[in-house]
Amino acid sequence: MSYRIGSGMDVHQLVEGRPLWLGGVLIPHSKGALGHSDADVLLHAICDALLGALSLGDIGTHFPDNDEKYKDIDSKVLLAKTYELVRAKKYSIVNIDSSLCLESPKIKKYSGQMKDVIAKILNISTDDISIKATTNEKMGFIGREEGLVAYATVLLQKEKESGER
Ligand code: MG
Repeated sequence: MSYRIGSGMDVHQLVEGRPLWLGGVLIPHSKGALGHSDADVLLHAICDALLGALSLGDIGTHFPDNDEKYKDIDSKVLLAKTYELVRAKKYSIVNIDSSLCLESPKIKKYSGQMKDVIAKILNISTDDISIKATTNEKMGFIGREEGLVAYATVLLQKEKESGER
């Protein structure tokens, strides 16, 4: 049985006048993440972890932020496209662990919704998705609410070839 592990991280600025998308869920907040796409840091970190596990480059390679095609794109579409690349290599996802680092708002009450969204796209159980959250103890750019960060780790498993035990 062949396994591959991948890690991803993403950072975006938080600014007024933008929606805050996290884990595919629109979170009510006074600020949102700035970016070419919908700037969903969690989904971007998961995409990078999936790509990293298979040495397929990074999210910027596949979905360049200077391509008009991806302007304001829903990151759920990017995650679905990334998952197609994983499936093309005949891998499935064992589990995902992730962390969101932001000062506010508290995202715990949204993590169930985020898991539902991600599980549906990646064809896994919500039990195989972990979304943790932490503040930065008011330090640095996260503490000043100028930005937020997400980290993700994924484990992939190769499908058995026919005839393989
Ligand atoms: Mg990003």
